[in-house]
Amino acid sequence: MSHSNWGNYPITDATEHRFQPGMNPSELNGYWIPRGMGRCYGDSSLGDSMLSILPLNRFLAFDETTGLLKAEAGVTYADLLETFVPKGWFPPVTPGTKFVSLGGAIASDVHGKNHHKEGSLSSHVRSFELLLADGRILHCSPTENAQLFEATLGGMGLTGMVLNVTLQMKPIETSLIALHSIKARNLDELMDLFEQYNHVTYSVAWIDCLSKGNKMGRSHLTVGEHASLEQIAGTKHAQNPLKLPPKKAIPIPIYFPNFALNNLTIKTFNFLYYNRQFKKEKKSFVPYEGFFYPLDMLLDWNRIYGKRGFTQYQFVIPPENGREGMREIMTRIAQKGLGSFLAVLKTFGPQDSMMGFPTKGYTLALDFPITKKLFPFLDELDELVASYGGRIYLTKDVRMKPEMLEQTYPRLGEFKALLKELDPQQRIRSMQSERLRIHE
Ligand SMILES: Cc1cc2nc3c(=O)[nH]c(=O)nc-3n(C[C@H](O)[C@H](O)[C@H](O)COP(=O)(O)OP(=O)(O)OC[C@H]3O[C@@H](n4cnc5c(N)ncnc54)[C@H](O)[C@@H]3O)c2cc1C
Repeated sequence: MSHSNWGNYPITDATEHRFQPGMNPSELNGYWIPRGMGRCYGDSSLGDSMLSILPLNRFLAFDETTGLLKAEAGVTYADLLETFVPKGWFPPVTPGTKFVSLGGAIASDVHGKNHHKEGSLSSHVRSFELLLADGRILHCSPTENAQLFEATLGGMGLTGMVLNVTLQMKPIETSLIALHSIKARNLDELMDLFEQYNHVTYSVAWIDCLSKGNKMGRSHLTVGEHASLEQIAGTKHAQNPLKLPPKKAIPIPIYFPNFALNNLTIKTFNFLYYNRQFKKEKKSFVPYEGFFYPLDMLLDWNRIYGKRGFTQYQFVIPPENGREGMREIMTRIAQKGLGSFLAVLKTFGPQDSMMGFPTKGYTLALDFPITKKLFPFLDELDELVASYGGRIYLTKDVRMKPEMLEQTYPRLGEFKALLKELDPQQRIRSMQSERLRIHE
């Protein structure tokens, strides 16, 4: 059967097995890779055989006083929110879609809009159980099998299959976000605003990546905090402060034709989006859904890119090179006329994990439809990213070259050695790990 991930590229013929407790993956034929919701963009969870964690989807224990949750790794963020927001708890770190599994989130060591203040998911995972290639199950935490714990967080499923996880949830008083949205006329103004609002827990900027000259980097910065009861006192929200947002999603029923998405549609969208807010600043209380998961409101929005598929290019650049690096990369993109509907800039705080993506700096994510000229152009951008001391996010990648990985992930050697020791026959493999020559 053919399978693909969120970018609908590549599409591959593979067998998907559903994991059942007691199953020993060493009995599977050939190579295999753990799979969650398939929300990584490229080929990280594609391979000869894919072992789906989704059948393991139960909550196992929850301490209402401390917020410590134990859940199976096939539980999704959507399950988590629906169950725990009404009880006053929120995931400590959340990606921009709620349709990911906990296992997938661990394997990518996901970050959210709060990395600069609260780190990535790894900062909040207390422990997990990991099924190795040979069928052994190990308990991993910062003090038990610590190297394996670190390698699995961001290890893209290559160390084994996470079966369950113990996670520290975050207390909230309301399900609303106190939001502050500020328009920036260009990249410099945006970078200044990021610095000015660095104390706020959540921040993210949408950028018009086709704007040039003194408008380059014009954007909306949105910063927010979980609203407190005191803040919403006297408003209509006060009656049911932990109310779940209504479940309304608009389906995209078909793949759009390739011509539907071109620079004119992107320019028009960017113009309308930038000007949707008339004033320089706006403050409001909004349900968490629209703030954290705006794209989830369009079900299967990946079809907008048509059957050719698309990829997301996400890189991070250290702060000392941030302004210069971003300016140069964005200039190249605008000159090339490669527009992206989604161009999102965030900041990262310090982090130095084995294979995790975040490291202190600025991160930009851009969606591009797959075309013949795209990959050679992204190779050029890779060179720039590497020259500025940055790296590419593996969970979004579908085309990076092994040399780029080698150059930009300094602990790759340690990771490869650990994989060889754990799984001498290297039976756990994805299309990505083979492309990046992680098993030599
Ligand atoms: C719209 C959208 C927005 C996103 N926003 C963000 C964001 O803001 N921040 C961010 O960090 N990421 C973001 N992502 C990426 C997404 O969070 C990751 O790709 C995540 O890993 C997907 O989880 P999944 O369950 O779909 O796993 P899959 O896509 O199926 O797999 C992803 C990786 O996890 C491994 N894996 C899956 N389950 C397990 C398991 N049980 N044990 C071990 N390994 C496993 C797979 O082998 C693979 O390497 C976004 C993705 C989308 C589509």
